[in-house]
Amino acid sequence: MIDFRSDTVTKPSPEMRDFMMNAPVGDDVFGDDPTINELEQMGADMFGKEAGLFCASGTMTNQIAINVHTVPGDEVICHEEAHIYRYEGGGIARNSGASVRFIRGNDGRIDPDLLVGTINPDDQHYPVSRMVSIEDTANRGGGRCYDFEDIKKIKIFCEENNLKLHLDGARVFNALAVSGIDARVYGDPFDTISICLSKGLGAPVGSLLVGSNDFIKKARRVRKVFGGGMRQAGIIAAGGVYALNNNIDRLKEDHDNAKKIGSILEKKRWIKKVLPVETNIVVGHVADHLKESDAVEALKAIGILCVAFGAGRIRLTTHLHITKADIIFLENNLPDTIE
Ligand SMILES: *Cc1c(COP(=O)(O)O)cnc(C)c1O
Repeated sequence: MIDFRSDTVTKPSPEMRDFMMNAPVGDDVFGDDPTINELEQMGADMFGKEAGLFCASGTMTNQIAINVHTVPGDEVICHEEAHIYRYEGGGIARNSGASVRFIRGNDGRIDPDLLVGTINPDDQHYPVSRMVSIEDTANRGGGRCYDFEDIKKIKIFCEENNLKLHLDGARVFNALAVSGIDARVYGDPFDTISICLSKGLGAPVGSLLVGSNDFIKKARRVRKVFGGGMRQAGIIAAGGVYALNNNIDRLKEDHDNAKKIGSILEKKRWIKKVLPVETNIVVGHVADHLKESDAVEALKAIGILCVAFGAGRIRLTTHLHITKADIIFLENNLPDTIE
């Protein structure tokens, strides 16, 4: 089976496991885990922030950020396809009692021009507009990247309206691999950034939240309340240290593989259209006579795993286990028709 279901399916390499095995550890709730401290500072420094917080998942880092930035009743502004809204179990409401305002925009990205008019007046009828969250790359948008100029426009809007700006950067290094923008420059407009270590970077567990000292102090408290204070977790954080040191530069290979998959899929009669492939995600619309689950099953029968992605779409994701040989296999074995 070639597994294109997600970039979360990777397993730690022997070198990464070795590094994890030998990592110094301590009780992180006492601040005693040197490997976690190193990872948190590494992430913060990369994006030009003061401090970092190691968490169990990207859902946790996003939800903690929302919890710190808002009070119950406040409004979070995000794209209608945002992970924080669609795939985090209603956590914005459940964890933070906040409400949501959607913004439209192409391929999962907020259109900055549509932000005007989304700020509620200072009037007792309305929730208080408190923060904007964007996703780069945008998962539901097929891994599309923001134009940095648009991010700057969004930032200016946030400053004018006293809003915090959060980045759901589950795949931020994929975005940076495309734009070539320095992470510190890119990080500047954001108050807070969530970074997944367990996606394309290939660590087994964990995400980082980075921001100011004051923000991270509050976030640490919320992480404890959410049950996320861990003890000798340096053993897993070490996977993150290894990933940041070794697995960023190779993301371009994933993007090349994904582009090839995109062009292979485009030629198939059972595919109506493929979203533009910029990073490691390929989203194809299946032909009208098919359900997306039919296509997923047909590919599974020939040893290719992918996922149904809603609205007649399938998603294939590349990652560090996908080789050139896998792409050749796909090219030679993908059927021209599916009935
Ligand atoms: C995967 C992902 C997350 C975090 O997911 P976890 O599975 O909780 O680590 C957040 N945002 C986006 C866009 C993602 O793709």
